[in-house]
Amino acid sequence: MVMKASGGEHRARCCVAIPEIDTSKCISCGNCVEECPVGIVTLVDGKAVITNPEACSYCTECESFCPSAAIRCPIEIVLGAPES
Ligand code: SF4
Ligand code: SF4
Repeated sequence: MVMKASGGEHRARCCVAIPEIDTSKCISCGNCVEECPVGIVTLVDGKAVITNPEACSYCTECESFCPSAAIRCPIEIVLGAPES
């Protein structure tokens, strides 16, 4: 079994897994900004933005502390034979 981040259009372009942000749900609480261990989330016009996608470790801390499910780290589970 292989687990990997599912790809959005932006991630497919830059080949880096980053959280998905639904700005319509973001209530500007700043939790994701405070909890990101690598400091790559900021608020722009009151909405969360990932400023340096290449530095994201996909730790899911931002998702864990978001009270409105505005920032999410989806995981795609792929079932298959183990790689040799
Ligand atoms: S997944 Fe982790 S490293 Fe990436 S933006 Fe969220 S808190 Fe920061
Ligand atoms: S934790 Fe969620 S609601 Fe709060 S600023 Fe971040 S994305 Fe917006």
